Amino acid sequence: MPEGHTIHRLAEDHLDRFGGGAVRVTSPQGKFSDSAALLDGRVFESVDAHGKHLFLGFGEDTGWVHIHLGLFGKVAFGDAPAPPPTDTVRLRIASGTAYMDLRGPTTCALITEPEKRAIHDRLGPDPLRPADDGEKAWARVSRSRTTVAALLMDQKVIAGVGNVYRAEVLFRHGIDPYRAGKDLVRREWDAIWADLVALMREGVRNNRIDTVRPEHTPEAMNRPPRVDDHGGEVYVYRRAQLPCHLCATEIRTAPLAARNLFWCPTCQRN
Ligand SMILES: [Zn+2]
Repeated sequence: MPEGHTIHRLAEDHLDRFGGGAVRVTSPQGKFSDSAALLDGRVFESVDAHGKHLFLGFGEDTGWVHIHLGLFGKVAFGDAPAPPPTDTVRLRIASGTAYMDLRGPTTCALITEPEKRAIHDRLGPDPLRPADDGEKAWARVSRSRTTVAALLMDQKVIAGVGNVYRAEVLFRHGIDPYRAGKDLVRREWDAIWADLVALMREGVRNNRIDTVRPEHTPEAMNRPPRVDDHGGEVYVYRRAQLPCHLCATEIRTAPLAARNLFWCPTCQRN
């Protein structure tokens, strides 16, 4: 499942390619055909992203295309002219210069402004939304008996953080992932939030997740770079049984909130 930085990056990429111009909208697969017919030829006005939800705006009277990629959804961009689409393409948007194909999303629906607002209301603050801050999340975290590792994955508490950022941010702050939210202190939460803002912004910029500090890069530590499909340098994510970069303890893994958690039992004792 993509993390929030991927969705915000997709929003920017859509705006770069289609913003302000009229676009052709089709649904080769057929499931979005009626809505596509309403949108076809209209101006692509704006984008928005909140957590793992992407919104493509076609103006107040027309509404928004709400997209959630889920586990299998994929977006592919290309230059015009677009090749004939395959019948797996749920949504194609095309301009004179570029096209986008959406395949396999959990959600692709045309919604109204009030329906969009209702989605925002269900989600926690998103470190990548400039108007959001950690206050609302802290109100829930500080009252919860749930582990901080589970709270970070709960989109109602904080939106956009996925399995990589949760594991890495807890490592960076030396926090035991099994601590209850109510046992965190304000200073720790503020540091986690600020760090997520910085890490996720960098994720949008580079389109990948890097979480190691400058002094822990492969070059600085004279160690081989990480070899992983996901790319990026990390401390603990998918490093089970490998030695911790800082203390050489074996990184541990265990399921938590439906995903595998990774942590260093030595470095994360706070
Ligand atoms: Zn360690």
